[in-house]
Amino acid sequence: MLLFGSVDAKPDFPKQEEQTLKYWEQNKVFEKSIEQRDEDSAYTFYDGPPFITGYPHYGNLLVSIAKDIVPRFFTMKGKRVRRVWGWDCHGLPIENKVEVKLGLKNRRDITDFGINNFIGECQKYVEKVSSEWKWYVDHIGRWVDFSNAYRTMDLDYMESLIWVFKQLYDKGLIYKGVRTSLYCTRCGTPISNFEIAMDNCYKEMEDPGITVKFKTQLQDKEVNLLAWTTTPWTLPSNRALVVDNKENYVLVTISGDQEQYVIAEKRVESVLSGYDYKVVDIFTGKELVGLGYQSPYNYFPPNDKDYKIYTYQEMVNMDEGTGIVHSAPGFGDIDTEMGKDLGLSIMFSVDEEGKFVGEVDKWAGVYVKEADPLIIRDLRERNLLFREDTVVHRYPYCYRCETPLIHRAQDSWFINVQDLKKKLLKSNESINWVPEHFKYGRFKKGVELAPDWCISRTRYWATAMPVWECGNCGKRVVAGSIKEIEELSGQRVNNLHRNGLDHITFECSQCRGEMKRVSEVLDCWMESGSMPYAERHYPFENKEEFDKSFPADFIVEYTGQVRAWFYVMHVVSNALYNTHCFKNVVVTGVMKGTDGRKMSKSYGNYPDPRVTIEKYGGDALRLYLMSSPVMMGREVNMTHGEEIEAKVKTVSLILWNSYRYFVTYANIFKLTAEQLNNLVVDQLGSFSALDRWVISQLYRFIRDFEKAMEEYNIPGAVNLIQPFVNNLSTWYIRRSRDRFLAGEEAAFKILHHVLKQSILAIAPAMPFLTEEIYQNLRLDSEPESIHLCDWPKVEDDLIDEELVQKMETVRVIVEQGHSARREAGVKVRQPLPKITVICHKDDQVDGELLELVKDELNIKEVQFELDGDRDAGIEIALDIRMSDNLILEGMARDIIRAIQDLRKNTGYQRSAKIEVYWISDSSRVRDVFSVHGTEIGERVLARRISNERKEKVDQETTIKLQDEEVWVGVCLD
Ligand SMILES: [Zn+2]
Ligand SMILES: [Zn+2]
Repeated sequence: MLLFGSVDAKPDFPKQEEQTLKYWEQNKVFEKSIEQRDEDSAYTFYDGPPFITGYPHYGNLLVSIAKDIVPRFFTMKGKRVRRVWGWDCHGLPIENKVEVKLGLKNRRDITDFGINNFIGECQKYVEKVSSEWKWYVDHIGRWVDFSNAYRTMDLDYMESLIWVFKQLYDKGLIYKGVRTSLYCTRCGTPISNFEIAMDNCYKEMEDPGITVKFKTQLQDKEVNLLAWTTTPWTLPSNRALVVDNKENYVLVTISGDQEQYVIAEKRVESVLSGYDYKVVDIFTGKELVGLGYQSPYNYFPPNDKDYKIYTYQEMVNMDEGTGIVHSAPGFGDIDTEMGKDLGLSIMFSVDEEGKFVGEVDKWAGVYVKEADPLIIRDLRERNLLFREDTVVHRYPYCYRCETPLIHRAQDSWFINVQDLKKKLLKSNESINWVPEHFKYGRFKKGVELAPDWCISRTRYWATAMPVWECGNCGKRVVAGSIKEIEELSGQRVNNLHRNGLDHITFECSQCRGEMKRVSEVLDCWMESGSMPYAERHYPFENKEEFDKSFPADFIVEYTGQVRAWFYVMHVVSNALYNTHCFKNVVVTGVMKGTDGRKMSKSYGNYPDPRVTIEKYGGDALRLYLMSSPVMMGREVNMTHGEEIEAKVKTVSLILWNSYRYFVTYANIFKLTAEQLNNLVVDQLGSFSALDRWVISQLYRFIRDFEKAMEEYNIPGAVNLIQPFVNNLSTWYIRRSRDRFLAGEEAAFKILHHVLKQSILAIAPAMPFLTEEIYQNLRLDSEPESIHLCDWPKVEDDLIDEELVQKMETVRVIVEQGHSARREAGVKVRQPLPKITVICHKDDQVDGELLELVKDELNIKEVQFELDGDRDAGIEIALDIRMSDNLILEGMARDIIRAIQDLRKNTGYQRSAKIEVYWISDSSRVRDVFSVHGTEIGERVLARRISNERKEKVDQETTIKLQDEEVWVGVCLD
């Protein structure tokens, strides 16, 4: 007969988890958990790959755990949940790491180092860092196929990407054009606005705010149009001034100044505050439109549209500046749009490193931000500066190198998002967002405001754009597969990075000129957006699997991805298939440091993740993170560790101790798993109210957990665990102690059943501890891991809601009774005559529940006073008048307790019969033994109780009872 394995009184959870990891690995439990499910019941989850830039932080661990709990749950529900890790390998973050390592400062350094060498270094870096993640992924209990991880730098992945590019190109959704975008001058590349939005890359920055004079002739007089700018470096590229044709403009003179100035009427007061000025004339903006003016700089010959006053859309506002706007097409979204609309010349006066080109001879080669003071000085010397201020404003910076970004026009490739918008909004309707507000909030608004997506980058570590152009006739060929490139060029292709494609040229089919690849690479966000196809090398392989699993059932990432990864995936799937590509999306909030600031090594405001996991274990971290409001998109400060420790104490240890209690007593009574396993639930009707109550609690717990998980309300599910284990331990087990001590098989069966069923439901949240318990409780015939089991079936007819409700009332009465006892200073062992409960008739309890109240409170009588008008709430009155009999009874209980302590201290077998000796000169003590002696004897398993002193006892004590004393000794014979 096999008993249960003994259970540690002081469990070392991290150590146990280490063993469980080994067990899973040796028995390939993860692999089995997938393979045992039917291929036709696929549940698809997309792993939004992290950038490989160092060790994982709490944000990575948070989503990683969410990416585990949901797949584990659906696996138990019978789904086949493929889980493959992904690595985001390309793009600036990695390039920057490698640049730092090699001491390369800008693009020129990279070209000198050699593009081929640079790409090789990036690859090496990715391989080194990725191996360092495995420890973390394992120890948070995340099951994922790490060894077959997809990597965006793999040939297969990149081939799918160029396929996506070609599909979109052929549909006319990709165009090349001059557009302004945010641009990093150090990295030499455009940055998309969603990359900035993702990590909120704005800083407070101080810039000059200057008011500049633009000379013009107005009614045969020379006057100055005043325009305000915070980017003096754009003045050499000025092409137009813009006014609001619906506003009034005034001509003013200033005392002591010969010149006259034009300014918007609404702006006069604030721009000229402190000046003694006089308005001498007034015009409408409309009257100014079409007027020519002299620009301060003339480095580029104007066309016939340049240097005129225009009115354009909403470009002018009356909240700042002068009401006259200086416009430099090429350096600002709207400026460039306006330039195109009005036929102005668009300026390319700044090179890729942010320096003025040769035409701007005064400052050629000077970095634009450094040119600002030089230009201001030049304006002042030429009497073209009206006034100079500084402004502090929020300014975007590069999320990798922290260089302030500029708006810069360049010839780039775009996905035409405007044409897709209707579809993007419509298919968003089919997505379940958790929390829901993202659906119509941030995501929808992001789509509505989205500019066209600039997908070309002038960088190196990325998929090369598969476009060849004829230098002679301009013919363009787009390749969508390796085979196509090979057929076009007659050359073997085994690398789609620049160093694999740049040298590939072929003859133009139209003019026999030379076709060369364009120099751009693809935005790495396009790789992330194409992940559903590329991770499976679709459509070159896995067509059938892809069809079965698209759109995905579930994705999860932090809020920053709402306008980033979620958005780009949505754009690509709508562009390809007119549909959304994920059905359920969970958006987590951001984990901040313990002090509410961004987590940062230099602030020291978060505990080291590895140390935390080693100290508390993976389950504890899972409980802490998954029960947190951060899982519902809220911002949360990281704990120093106390809150993780609290999860160990209030959940893990409570569950553990209940389990340990069960095993300890089941072994004492030699009850085996086989014996206890056949709980016949049909007979439950004849079981005690407490038994039926705990079974109701069990199935409510499983039902509610399941419902919350199916709604992707992860904290809603995980937060059910603590009250459940607490009810089990502090109510069911505690109230049933006598039955367990007496070896009552029915009670053991119930507890065994409740433990086994509940750990099934807890398993997705706490995969380690539940496995540990399961291994000891399971039958040999049952699956070798809890994670190979099915989700427990909810027995609805075993849920007695009325009983649950009544038990709630019992617990309220008991709680109030105990606190009344505490206030009166009467300990629980002292019986009391009566408690009066004032309540509504629905709250009245009787039968077993009434006995429960009496027993728990150690009270002889419970009297209900029903109050029909009472809505809710219960009041009690405790009668603390003690008769002599009750006092004797209380003393008897004290004596029983003291003898049981002696038994325990002596280390007697639980079933050993003992002898008890006692001496007292108090007549009341003698009364206690004469009235309650039999009961005392039964309770402490005494063979004999003697009123005498024995010299050699095993253990002795003097018990103080009210005003009297009694000496007691125990021995075995
Ligand atoms: Zn940068
Ligand atoms: Zn040609």
